[in-house]
Amino acid sequence: MIDKKGILFVLSGPSGVGKGTVRKALFEKETDLQYSISITTRKPRNGETHGVDYFFHEKDEVENMIEHGELLEWAEYVGNYYGTPRRYVEQTLAEGKDVFLEIEVQGALQVKENFPEGVFIFLFPPSLDELKNRIVNRGTETEDLVRNRLLAAKEEIEMMEAYDYVVVNDEIDQAVKRIQAIVQSEHCKRERI
Ligand code: 5GP
Repeated sequence: MIDKKGILFVLSGPSGVGKGTVRKALFEKETDLQYSISITTRKPRNGETHGVDYFFHEKDEVENMIEHGELLEWAEYVGNYYGTPRRYVEQTLAEGKDVFLEIEVQGALQVKENFPEGVFIFLFPPSLDELKNRIVNRGTETEDLVRNRLLAAKEEIEMMEAYDYVVVNDEIDQAVKRIQAIVQSEHCKRERI
């Protein structure tokens, strides 16, 4: 018999490390994982859709959600709010399905306090130079924002010790395979007669 409750997987790591790309590639292979769509006050980038990439909200709406305890975790990151809707995560886990969060480090540490049984995966850049290249080449940020995101990244890397697993994102396919191995291993760990 398998544990009835789903497993909460949290993928975290510095901005620009490729969390979004790795998560999308992972979801093409691991169709049993349920992605928790975050809320944010950041404006949509080109090609982003409300309800698919994020739920885009105004600042006062998010502050209201925080006040009413509707977010499992939230963080202010480079001038915007980001957060995880609590009800979706709790209901989906209770239905026995695995939930996958892709969030920054402050938020992941909050989740760890509420869900110590969650599985925390840190996606690590091949190097800080490579991380800077990725943020700059994405071309979506101004020079100031690039600098702020790099500063945040350095602080985030210092929190790596709090995680269960570290996956180096040197090559997307390899990173995805490593995360798939973690997902399988965590299922085996929880299998009980
Ligand atoms: P971006 O603006 O590039 O989409 O995201 C900025 C950072 O916020 C990324 O590190 C992303 O993983 C993180 N993020 C996305 N959703 C959430 C969330 O719900 N909570 C937290 N704490 N961080 C999030």
